[in-house]
Amino acid sequence: MAGLTMALELARRDRPCIVVERAPRLEEVGAGLQLSPNALRVLARLGDLDDLKARGTVAETVTLHAARTGRAIASVPVSSADGTPYLSIHRADLQAWLVRAAAASSRIELRLGRDIGAIARDRSDLRVEAIRSGGTEILQTPLVIAADGVNSPTAQRLGLGGPAATGALAWRGRVADGAAMPPAGIEAWLGPRRHAVAYPIASGRETNLVLIEPADGSANHADLPARFSKWDRRLGTMIASVDGFTAWPLKAVPGARPWRHLDNRLILIGDAAHAMLPYAAQGAAMAIEDAAVLAAHLDRAADLSNALRGYETERRPRIDRVRSRVGFHRFVYHLPFPLSLGRNAVLASRSAASLAGDLAWLYDWRPPRD
Ligand SMILES: Cc1cc2nc3c(=O)[nH]c(=O)nc-3n(C[C@H](O)[C@H](O)[C@H](O)COP(=O)(O)OP(=O)(O)OC[C@H]3O[C@@H](n4cnc5c(N)ncnc54)[C@H](O)[C@@H]3O)c2cc1C
Repeated sequence: MAGLTMALELARRDRPCIVVERAPRLEEVGAGLQLSPNALRVLARLGDLDDLKARGTVAETVTLHAARTGRAIASVPVSSADGTPYLSIHRADLQAWLVRAAAASSRIELRLGRDIGAIARDRSDLRVEAIRSGGTEILQTPLVIAADGVNSPTAQRLGLGGPAATGALAWRGRVADGAAMPPAGIEAWLGPRRHAVAYPIASGRETNLVLIEPADGSANHADLPARFSKWDRRLGTMIASVDGFTAWPLKAVPGARPWRHLDNRLILIGDAAHAMLPYAAQGAAMAIEDAAVLAAHLDRAADLSNALRGYETERRPRIDRVRSRVGFHRFVYHLPFPLSLGRNAVLASRSAASLAGDLAWLYDWRPPRD
């Protein structure tokens, strides 16, 4: 997400770049994603937003349900006042949209099937190894933007260590159309130490289902229906209809990880810099925002050092605020009985407008002007 968005942001400023990707083909990977208006405002500048919307489903609300009864506690409006939608989409469909936009640009060169290896200073440039099956290519470049994900090999090579385990596990699965009642917009069920999220993907033909629970090591896919058997029956039907769940141990990058390296010639962005729990559905959105802000600083600043410093000064407070919101969701979503009754009463007493107001700072964000 971060790498392709970065390339498109640079290309729209007429800057050339090479995207080096480990995967030999950019094909169907991962599961569903929610894309909030703050991310879509960036993407709208990079390609055909109507085409992207057609690949996903526009959501008007996120509805929170009590786990056992399924009662709707609150419905939070998520579309933005300026008309920018909130979209649910399969990750592969977003990736295909980004690749199509990148392929149309003469400023972007995609090199697939290459693993980034050692990166070292070489006079004023960096010398980068791109390892492929037939041998190693050497790239000379003034700047490396490392967008290599939560397990970032670049971060590990820089001696920053790996991400931390969070103690939580996500089970991701797809429900084929007709197998269970498709959700209306984004739906979440809140229970003690667990929650579930469902939303349409593949232009509404399928439902993406995510079940979050403690990672206790013994959990397995076959027992999932039993572990959620006392929850809302509608959720149970969806769980029973999933043909194969995939387990994702959830990891997070410590907030103190430094982003700028090698004398301001290398910067980490996206999950490589700040992976967080997906409880506010903002990881990809932050990666996309990163790309827009970094491209603007590279344009404005007199040199790379100032550009990278300016970028970090602008981004850190926002990333920290999103991380705090994620912690708040973790606490509130997983409250045990009877505290959950208090939570439900407070949420139910609030108007839709005031609930939406809580997240205006997040969803109303705009990319820097050109
Ligand atoms: C269960 C779950 C649900 C989520 N839901 C949402 C959601 O609803 N909304 C949202 O915004 N976010 C969500 N996220 C978070 C989101 O998936 C990530 O934040 C996002 O994918 C980060 O993008 P990225 O580009 O930084 O990293 P990635 O998408 O991981 O991309 C990293 C890329 O780097 C490549 N790579 C790695 N190492 C090398 C190497 N050495 N050389 C070359 N290439 C390399 C990889 O192949 C990959 O293509 C969710 C995450 C999880 C786990």
